[in-house]
Amino acid sequence: MRIAVINRDRCQPKKCSKECEYFCPPVRTGDETIVFVDGKPLITENLCVGCGICVRKCPFGAITITNLPEEMDDPVHRYGQNGFALYGLPVPVGGRVTGLLGPNGIGKSTAVSILSGILRPNLGKNATWDEVLARFAGSALGDYLRKVTEKGVKTSYKPQNVDRIPKSYSGQVRGLLEKTDERGALRDLIEWLGLAKLIDREISSLSGGELQRVAVAATAARDADFYFFDEISPYLDIYQRINVARILQGLAKEKAVMVVEHDLALLDLLADNVHLIYGLPGAYGVITRPKGVRVGINQYLRGNLPEENVRFRDSAITFEVRTPRMEKEIPALIAYEAFTKVYSSFRLQAEPGLVRRGEVVGILGANGTGKSTYIKILAGVEKPTTGSFDRQLKVSYKPQYLKADSEVTVQGLLRSMTNDFDSSYYQAEILRPMGLEPLLDQALTELSGGELQRAAITACLSRDADLYLLDEPSAHLDVEQRMLTAKVMRRFAESTEKTVLVVDHDIYLIDLLSERLMVFDGVPGEMGIAHPPREMREGMNAFLKGLGITFRRDEETRRPRVNKPGSRLDRMQKEQGEYYYPVEDS
Ligand code: ADP
Ligand code: ADP
Ligand code: MG
Repeated sequence: MRIAVINRDRCQPKKCSKECEYFCPPVRTGDETIVFVDGKPLITENLCVGCGICVRKCPFGAITITNLPEEMDDPVHRYGQNGFALYGLPVPVGGRVTGLLGPNGIGKSTAVSILSGILRPNLGKNATWDEVLARFAGSALGDYLRKVTEKGVKTSYKPQNVDRIPKSYSGQVRGLLEKTDERGALRDLIEWLGLAKLIDREISSLSGGELQRVAVAATAARDADFYFFDEISPYLDIYQRINVARILQGLAKEKAVMVVEHDLALLDLLADNVHLIYGLPGAYGVITRPKGVRVGINQYLRGNLPEENVRFRDSAITFEVRTPRMEKEIPALIAYEAFTKVYSSFRLQAEPGLVRRGEVVGILGANGTGKSTYIKILAGVEKPTTGSFDRQLKVSYKPQYLKADSEVTVQGLLRSMTNDFDSSYYQAEILRPMGLEPLLDQALTELSGGELQRAAITACLSRDADLYLLDEPSAHLDVEQRMLTAKVMRRFAESTEKTVLVVDHDIYLIDLLSERLMVFDGVPGEMGIAHPPREMREGMNAFLKGLGITFRRDEETRRPRVNKPGSRLDRMQKEQGEYYYPVEDS
């Protein structure tokens, strides 16, 4: 079974010579495989031979032709002929947190619109509700959809992009929140999410992290049958992520809660079950049956779904507990003395530290403790208030907040950074895994948040430098892109022996990448302390102790998993001071 999908945003029939139709071999022999209707191309899938010529000839990269995995039924929904096709649906279950795990553009929002009764599934044709109910009769999903058609379900929905909230709401936080207080839970939510201080603020003045917490409170305060959170982690630090996770788990004691989340450590902690979603972003998505959260995440990391008989990635993502290298084996890149940076209401104090040649150092810490300030000082963008810095090093820096202010294309940007653009190493080790090939001719200003992030990370690694500084590279990336980015950055450091410092809140990304760890603590927004880079285990123990959680290693994938608070392992590890993993595991 083959499907042909045309991206209607990219397709610009007025600006091309209808190459898709002109070069199509079946069209040349008289078939109507590709025809233009109302000036737009339509591809008839059962006449298409799958040669891929139209895909390559389209000047806008608007066509995807792909084989579906074997034994697929009709889709649950398709956005018209040559539109995106969705196979399978998740099932909301009362009393549980159900996670959705998969890349962006794979149909998660489409599925939720169906479950909310906003979108009637068409089964890939023009199906009526009766046909839909007949198809799913006798299953939990069928029962759920029957409820949607009979009584309707009330959904409370937290959108993915919280930065758009100020465009649709104005006024104070109080006004937005009070309207949502349908089950008398708002007061508690305000307290748990630390929103009391924000209540009189204008929505337009809130930071990303503040908007995220307001949006979570507003969504959870409503009285609904089904709660859907499209990502909870963006802009939040680990403390806040865990806090929100606990709130959703509390909500799920009575209600059905569904969550999309790309931070796997958080999803693992938060969800009871997960549906994996695989396919080809923008073309089709397949939602699996629910799996236990441990098994589901492990299958995702392996890229292999035994029950579905599908392999969706060539290689597994592997975690390892690395034995630290001997201190004296590695030459130092920089050794710095203590320094400080003082702003009107914030003070950063950096302890003396040493960064070595060819290592990746992860940086963890709460928001507002000066991580970005520290990175900017290393990058030479800011000057320390006391202490000085030996500035012999060449530094390449990716800031936390990205702005695309130039009409240059992705390719133009990267070519201006490196002479190796055409080398097979660059193409295979950097461009392809970063998923930039389809975006090369797009202007930076046209890119989405995740696309811009990937272009910025790639540009940072493309410059010639001694020290690479990346401030929150996982922001706006989906789970698949995070895992691939971690791999690219690590291999880059290994093969070039360059030093890379990465600030991030995604524990799996930090664990996959880092050889050593820097931890920031202090009082957010008032003062921060930058501790020196330390061995992973030592640094993680200090960090997790502050967080009050312990990790164990999954037997199968070696990924860290949060221990249940108060469990045998949790108590034992806290006694031993081994928060990162139990000693017998090392
Ligand atoms: P996700 O939530 O996983 O990012 P979505 O469900 O938003 O994915 O979108 C999946 C695909 O469906 C995308 O390629 C998107 O362009 C397409 N799509 C979404 N809504 C529509 C629509 N109303 N009409 C046509 N295509 C759509
Ligand atoms: P983090 O990256 O750990 O979240 P930052 O380094 O961005 O922390 O910020 C730490 C504190 O310093 C914050 O309270 C922030 O408001 C303040 N701050 C950052 N840059 C400036 C500046 N240029 N002027 C005044 N205060 C600043
Ligand atoms: Mg920062």
